[in-house]
Amino acid sequence: MRQAAPENKPCKFCQKSFEPNRDWQDFCPGDKCRNAYHSIRRNFVAAFNVLAAEVSETAKSKGWKKSNDAEGLMLMVAELGEACTALRHGNPADNKIANFSGVEAELADVIIYIMNYAMLREYKIAEAVVAKIEFNKTRPERHGGKLF
Ligand SMILES: [Mg+2]
Ligand SMILES: [Zn+2]
Repeated sequence: MRQAAPENKPCKFCQKSFEPNRDWQDFCPGDKCRNAYHSIRRNFVAAFNVLAAEVSETAKSKGWKKSNDAEGLMLMVAELGEACTALRHGNPADNKIANFSGVEAELADVIIYIMNYAMLREYKIAEAVVAKIEFNKTRPERHGGKLF
């Protein structure tokens, strides 16, 4: 079945109204805007990888060695648990970085663990994030009728 053509919408870069080919297309096909679309993704990957290297250096300098796979993954789960605990207490300011709530700080920990994990195992996580963002746009409603 052919899908209805998506409505016109403003380009996220130049704000001009355009008719997207797919309803998730955020940038008009102009060269500048298409390049913006790609450079945002390239910059994300580059920034993630630079920060991941920094995270890994800091961890090493603090005496942390590469943990095994189960430990590495479980530490991420533990940080999610800390985020949940912060919510149970009303999400107060974090006690280490007081400008941020507990949930913000604990989810930051998850990402930091992911960065170190990616770095130590040479996983292309940032690239996978970009690929998955695009893939998710192609999935059916509720990914084929899942309940939640
Ligand atoms: Mg934590
Ligand atoms: Zn544009």
